[in-house]
Amino acid sequence: MTDTLRPVHVIGGGLAGSEAAWQLASRGVPVVLHEMRPVRKTEAHSTEKLAELVCSNSFRSDDAEYNAVGLLHEEMRRCGSLILRCADAHKVPAGGALAMDRDGFADAVTEAVSSHPLIAIQREEVAGLPPEEWDSVIVATGPLTSPALAEAVRSQTGEESLAFFDAIAPIVYLESIDLSKAWFQSRYDKPGPGGTGKDYINCAFEKDEYRAFIAALIEGEKIDFKEWEKSTPYFEGCLPIEVMAERGVDTLRYGPMKPVGLTNPHKPERRPYAVVQLRQDNALGTLYNLVGFQTKLRHAEQARIFRMIPGLENAEFARLGGMHRNTFLNSPRILDGALRLKSLPRLRFAGQVTGCEGYVESAAVGLLAGRFAAAERLGQEISTPPVTTALGAILGHITGGAEAETYQPMNVNFGLFPPVDDKIRGRDRKLAYTRRALADLDGWLNG
Ligand SMILES: Cc1cc2nc3c(=O)[nH]c(=O)nc-3n(C[C@H](O)[C@H](O)[C@H](O)COP(=O)(O)OP(=O)(O)OC[C@H]3O[C@@H](n4cnc5c(N)ncnc54)[C@H](O)[C@@H]3O)c2cc1C
Repeated sequence: MTDTLRPVHVIGGGLAGSEAAWQLASRGVPVVLHEMRPVRKTEAHSTEKLAELVCSNSFRSDDAEYNAVGLLHEEMRRCGSLILRCADAHKVPAGGALAMDRDGFADAVTEAVSSHPLIAIQREEVAGLPPEEWDSVIVATGPLTSPALAEAVRSQTGEESLAFFDAIAPIVYLESIDLSKAWFQSRYDKPGPGGTGKDYINCAFEKDEYRAFIAALIEGEKIDFKEWEKSTPYFEGCLPIEVMAERGVDTLRYGPMKPVGLTNPHKPERRPYAVVQLRQDNALGTLYNLVGFQTKLRHAEQARIFRMIPGLENAEFARLGGMHRNTFLNSPRILDGALRLKSLPRLRFAGQVTGCEGYVESAAVGLLAGRFAAAERLGQEISTPPVTTALGAILGHITGGAEAETYQPMNVNFGLFPPVDDKIRGRDRKLAYTRRALADLDGWLNG
């Protein structure tokens, strides 16, 4: 049967593309994997290996009971992930984290993919929309997608659907916000389209609190832009919060932190001096983002400084802020639930270009794209993972659960899962998420 199947084309041999190719070939579907290195280089990769880790050598926590990314590792192992198999085989001591010898890891992925009889690797750049005879394509070209392909995708999907920079505002778990200080209200109580007039969570500052906060933003330790990031033209007009703070002590009070149209029900007699607004970030309503707070502050500094915001003293962050060169789609708007481009379904997307964030999440979305494309090619029904699993939660977020208007790259975290019983608190709550996830994953894999 295999001899009669047409190949699926995978563009990009990074974490996602290598995993997608492996999943396809493991199901008997031939693959042509197009990787542009070493013919054309990126600014971050330095070898011609598949699945090169461009920065850290860590897949983060390997704790499958209490950590969402550890859970994702375990789910991927159970799905026969090549990336996890090679990571496990080349791990180095790293406490509770899964960290690898980067060369051993990338060599193992390269060897496994290139020696698979159903995978042909072509070292070439795909510099435009794939030819029409490629009837099933997985685009997994990552945050540094070559400009020619990025422009082609942008003209297919529309100006607003492909970003060249991320501008990530921190995201807080709703359950960690102190609502005895913060309150729900939209500016001037305006309901707007689909709203209720109580759509934002507001955190009010007194004058001295505000001044201390501005000073902390200015003094906080930052990460510099890389030389090649500075030259990206699309970045203008989206300033980090600390740069706005440096422009004058009142700049934020007249900008994203303006206190107008809001009344603090906890102190109705006092007009707030400045207000931080948090907006719902996912359909489940479990996550809220700090509107306008994209930043280059170091992560530890962000946690320290943003907990100075009244009501966020005990905030738990699902994601901290950042700004990087990053090519990614507005996936919730333009992809369907099986990662296909709605306007051109022969193209499927995987990896960081879909707006997931990180090595593991990228490989996980590659794994799903590979499974879906294989099912399609084999004439089988596409089966998506349950939303209660880490795989299902990240897939659901990027293909519709996230707010398209404010869509920015996202790591896997428990805020993406349908909540478990409210009565279960603390560490037990995490255990409840992971136990439910693995039971549901096994049901999915066996069913
Ligand atoms: C500077 C930098 C540092 C990072 N540090 C980390 C980190 O420490 N931890 C972390 O988890 N994540 C990090 N990331 C994010 C990381 O890139 C992703 O998590 C992961 O590599 C994404 O996997 P991917 O397969 O989607 O893309 P990639 O791994 O980047 O793979 C994409 C592949 O596509 C190829 N390609 C691009 N365009 C074309 C084309 N037109 N034709 C053919 N091939 C093409 C590229 O050469 C590349 O091999 C970093 C990203 C950057 C840019």
